[in-house]
Amino acid sequence: MTTALRTRFIRKSLFILLMLAGAAAAFARGKALPPDAQSKLLAGILAETAKAAAAGKSPAVAFDIDDTLLLTAPRTKAILLEFAGKHAERYPGFADQVSRLDPNTMPHGIAEVLKLLEIGDQERVTELKKYWLPRFLSNDYLTFDWPLPGSLEFIVGLRAKGAAVFYVTARSPEKMREGTEKALRHFGFPLDERAQLLMNDTHKPAPEFKGKRTAELAKTHRMTGLFENEPDNINAMHRADPKAQAVFLDTVHGNAAGPVDEGVPWIKNYRLKP
Ligand SMILES: [Mg+2]
Repeated sequence: MTTALRTRFIRKSLFILLMLAGAAAAFARGKALPPDAQSKLLAGILAETAKAAAAGKSPAVAFDIDDTLLLTAPRTKAILLEFAGKHAERYPGFADQVSRLDPNTMPHGIAEVLKLLEIGDQERVTELKKYWLPRFLSNDYLTFDWPLPGSLEFIVGLRAKGAAVFYVTARSPEKMREGTEKALRHFGFPLDERAQLLMNDTHKPAPEFKGKRTAELAKTHRMTGLFENEPDNINAMHRADPKAQAVFLDTVHGNAAGPVDEGVPWIKNYRLKP
């Protein structure tokens, strides 16, 4: 093989390797947009918000909270650690096992987490679920959640462009209002007349509540963004206001969820710069 041929061969091989690596990365991301396309989408929402504000159209953006703005896995981990500490004698080694859980890769739902921890004893599973559930759905553990990367900056940016912000959450107002307000403030998320918390006071299933709320908001505002991590909820919101840019947060979601409507983009977080 001549030197020129060899160089061409090496270049070609490198090119193929790069293509394969790119395809593998795209596959690993699932349907989520690559970082540059995500930036473009979020920048487009900011621009659309500014345009609507300039036209006097009262722009607004709706965000779900759990696993859309704030990751809930750290809350589950904190509750399990508390349990482990209280029952260290009965369950030696459990605290260590829970400490090693990484909230960024933990599965969704207590059953899946306990499976990952290889807790097969039915009595123990029941005891842990009974301990976890009322605490997870209470006011007391919400500041353990973690904001999604870029979420706060994006909301601050939207407000600077003139948007009102609505946190549309299926959390129970009776059980979780106080803790939700405290957690939002704790992380620096705005909460005022231009950033309001809309909780599930209808006590209807989440998709119905969120669809209805979105339709109501669309009567008084130009909705420039709808953000949600549950497929059934984002579909309901998207169908209630097809003019608004619906965005699916590809974090974690319930197992029973159907597919996300075609044409709704998927993102992993709110980072504006790739
Ligand atoms: Mg959610």
